[in-house]
Amino acid sequence: MIALKGIPAAPGIAMGKALLFREELLVPKRSISDGEIPAEVLRLEEALIQTRHQISGIQKRLAEELGQEQAEIFNAHLLVLEDQSLREEIITGLKSQHLNVETIFNEVVLRHLKAFSRTNDEYLRERTADVEDVRKRVLRNLLGKQTDVLERLSQRVILVARDLSPSETALMHRHNILAFVTDVGGRTSHTAIMAKSLEIPAVVGLVSATKRISEGSFMIVDGTHGDVLIDPDPSTVERYELEHRRAQEINRQLLHLKDLPAETLDHHSVTLSANIELPDELPSVIAHGAHGIGLFRTEFLYLNRLDLPTEEEQYDAYRSVAERLKGQPVVIRTMDLGGDKFLSPLQLPSEMNPFMGWRAIRFSLARPEIFRVQLRAILRASIHGNLKMMYPMISSLEELQRANEIFRDVREELSREGAPMAERFEVGAMIEVPSAALTCDLLAKEVDFFSIGTNDLIQYALAVDRVNEKIAYLYEPTHPAILRLIQRVIEVGHSANLWVGMCGEMAGEPVMTLLLMGMGLDEFSTSPVQLPLVKRVIRSVEHSFARSVVEQVLTLKTGKEVEAFLTATLKQIVPDLTE
Ligand code: PEP
Ligand code: MG
Repeated sequence: MIALKGIPAAPGIAMGKALLFREELLVPKRSISDGEIPAEVLRLEEALIQTRHQISGIQKRLAEELGQEQAEIFNAHLLVLEDQSLREEIITGLKSQHLNVETIFNEVVLRHLKAFSRTNDEYLRERTADVEDVRKRVLRNLLGKQTDVLERLSQRVILVARDLSPSETALMHRHNILAFVTDVGGRTSHTAIMAKSLEIPAVVGLVSATKRISEGSFMIVDGTHGDVLIDPDPSTVERYELEHRRAQEINRQLLHLKDLPAETLDHHSVTLSANIELPDELPSVIAHGAHGIGLFRTEFLYLNRLDLPTEEEQYDAYRSVAERLKGQPVVIRTMDLGGDKFLSPLQLPSEMNPFMGWRAIRFSLARPEIFRVQLRAILRASIHGNLKMMYPMISSLEELQRANEIFRDVREELSREGAPMAERFEVGAMIEVPSAALTCDLLAKEVDFFSIGTNDLIQYALAVDRVNEKIAYLYEPTHPAILRLIQRVIEVGHSANLWVGMCGEMAGEPVMTLLLMGMGLDEFSTSPVQLPLVKRVIRSVEHSFARSVVEQVLTLKTGKEVEAFLTATLKQIVPDLTE
């Protein structure tokens, strides 16, 4: 038996056979009109140029590291890219078949590859691998990274991958994935968040899982504790089966709390709502007894596709969530693209520090034509339920004012068109950048509420990349700097008469619940599976007890001390949950 320790990303225990996930390319087919042909030709030219640059870069590196001769191996790739007859064949295909360029490119190249593999000409046969490599590189540039292994799984398996993007993880819910484990990633990477939403146990940051686990091995994944066991002995399997049954029993008991209020023994109540990534998570939201949606991450509407979602499509998605929640609040977050969530149609350029780069509200303000479509869809859907909206990654007053200006302009435009909209519509700011937390008194004048995004707030305040497993030990939600920022935002928000929520993963950590409640947090929004745990903790104490926890914690000096204190307190209050 081999035991690996990683970062627990999504709770639960799973057992099954390993499937090693390697990137493959999915080529979506789309019809195009005559008018779109020039743009498709341009996309081809750009992808060819981009591929040429990438190959020249590889050649340069090889020449420096291994010598000119090795670098020249790639000359054959460049010849394929410069082949005029291939280019012409693709353009002719575009005109005659009226299909998108990746489909035509793929068909033409595959046809050549087939012919090459059948020929007696040794030179041509040897070029097959080069052409195949070029095919994948160009396609990857045309598409952004896309995969289709997840679409074709027929058995229930545990996926073992070096990395999975949030968009790949988003594809999983339709398939037979028992659990997944990855070499890279951190606790609040969007891949981990997605796994939690989909209720798929996951362990990330294992460093060498793909090297140490072979295809088909039997393994156990404990996503609650971050343990991965390969070829376990029968007594270990038995122990985990028992543990699995115990966890299921606790979950069943917790679900009895579903319809009870989230209030302390002395009736101090808070709002417990859910985070969702996709509208199809709503059954889980309802099953876990959430009061509305505190964070609807809309960027998943933009992933795994080649075009942008239209206003109608977004309107339908927002309207359906608003209606199904039957008047309960739904906070839609405007798109937070960038960071670890990229999309192919916009071809966001790669950046050295994407989390600190062209992301979220910065992207929306730079591309108002895309932003306005989303705002129109949200406002039009507002008539169908209790919708609110918030902006991600606000870092200054100007940014917030600019976003609000665009919002007002869109609202006036819709009014002129006679579109019905809700009369009262709350707009909030996410507080997830330290500069926003420190100037929240200034931001408060522009909004109706704050929602604290601890996933980012922690990474920016502590300078710890949230997806980097090497420094995951520094990612400390209990660090005194973080607690002071949170306390300040709640206090300032309240003195400006705003309600203050939290939608980062911290809101769903039972160990943090008493502290946050004692600080006065009004709304906790988290993955639906975490809600019953949090509610159980809230219902076990008096509010004054939570306030005394805050007082004691504020005297402690390190994140480790705070964590130890909070863990011990939780054990005392709900011993059955913390064994
Ligand atoms: C956060 O940063 O805490 C948050 C909720 O947003 P996201 O995880 O999508 O960045
Ligand atoms: Mg965030």
